[in-house]
Amino acid sequence: MTKQTLRIFILLCLPFIGYGQTQIRCAIKEIAQQSLRNRHQAFEKKLQQYYSKAEGSLESDDRLIKIPVVVHVVHNNASGTIGGDKNNNISDEQIISQIKVLNEDYRRKSGTPGFNSSPVGADMNIEFVLASVDPEGNPTNGITRTYSAQASFDVFKDNYTLSSLSYWDANKYLNIWVTSIKDGYLGYGEFPGADFDGLDLEDVNEQIDGVIIDHKAFGRQTGTSNSGVYKFGRTVTHEVGHWLGLIHTWGDAFCGDDFCNDTPPTERANLSNFCRPLSSNCNGMVTQNMIENFMDYTPDSCMNTFTQDQKGRVRAVLELSKRRRRLVINSQFSLPAAEKFEVRVLENPTIEDQFRLQVLLPGYKDFSYKVYNSMGQEVLAKDFKDYPSTVIEIPRAKLSKGIFNIRLISGDEVISRRLISL
Ligand SMILES: [Zn+2]
Repeated sequence: MTKQTLRIFILLCLPFIGYGQTQIRCAIKEIAQQSLRNRHQAFEKKLQQYYSKAEGSLESDDRLIKIPVVVHVVHNNASGTIGGDKNNNISDEQIISQIKVLNEDYRRKSGTPGFNSSPVGADMNIEFVLASVDPEGNPTNGITRTYSAQASFDVFKDNYTLSSLSYWDANKYLNIWVTSIKDGYLGYGEFPGADFDGLDLEDVNEQIDGVIIDHKAFGRQTGTSNSGVYKFGRTVTHEVGHWLGLIHTWGDAFCGDDFCNDTPPTERANLSNFCRPLSSNCNGMVTQNMIENFMDYTPDSCMNTFTQDQKGRVRAVLELSKRRRRLVINSQFSLPAAEKFEVRVLENPTIEDQFRLQVLLPGYKDFSYKVYNSMGQEVLAKDFKDYPSTVIEIPRAKLSKGIFNIRLISGDEVISRRLISL
């Protein structure tokens, strides 16, 4: 794959229809189906590993994941006025309406447009929260506002320009840039890097890892999101789906593969201003298209479904993609990087079910622990790969009563602590 096709491959976008014009302007429809197929076997293997790991692993379970979000509003309103139905310096209210849509959709929340009664429908168990702490550790509302004289941005060429105006560490935050996009695009999302079917091996440069959205397709019927079929906030649900590793339901080729068995084969994107039933004839089989799927191109009001397989894929990606994995770990504790390797036992002795130890690391490091009983015998051990500062838990059920010695090892540094199990 040449660098150019690779670039096109990772750019994902929605065409802009429903504002009095019908245009198809998505650059990835030529995605090479063959290259996806070639990697299918690799994917099956990875997914199998993922599921077998999930049985006994804390990291792989279906726990609720909360993703900190920063919304960078990049506007050309020199007066600095915020809000209104034409102003691309959109209101906090418009932003909050979008976060609400994301949470309804990723939680399949009953009583909201994000609910579905499909037998394959999934609660992704992912929530999105406007960041409360900025990269310097200061309180924030998770919204930045930056004036730029540039009136609109090109999703293919201007992503570094947008990032240079405002960007937070993509290992800790989902960056969403909201601005005016050129040429009728609604937005795009960057794929995570992972050794995984349909994904590129490497993460894109972290400076541009995130989602870019046109302000008119951001939020639900609030402020500038007020006309056409994309005013219900599903562009962001869709693009964040890409950011989590999901592929279009038609696999970006005629009857292409999205690597999810419970989304029916689909001839092509469903480009329509209506939610009418559509069918596909793929490999001699006629099936109903899942126009409700968030990874289709149907109007916002038709969408309400992520499937179980899409959930499985996302859960696997969150483990296998280095940067997404870091983000999930960071989101649990958001501890700062330390000057040097340090360990603090948070409560000792403890009558809780586990000992909790704060492990502070300079940047992202491998570390491990070994626990020894009073006879000097090793009773527990665990390895951690590429971790930021974190809190680890040692299950007390695995230890008897008594005094234990825990050794934490990172590189050639060793720190010993005593654990008192009552
Ligand atoms: Zn897309």
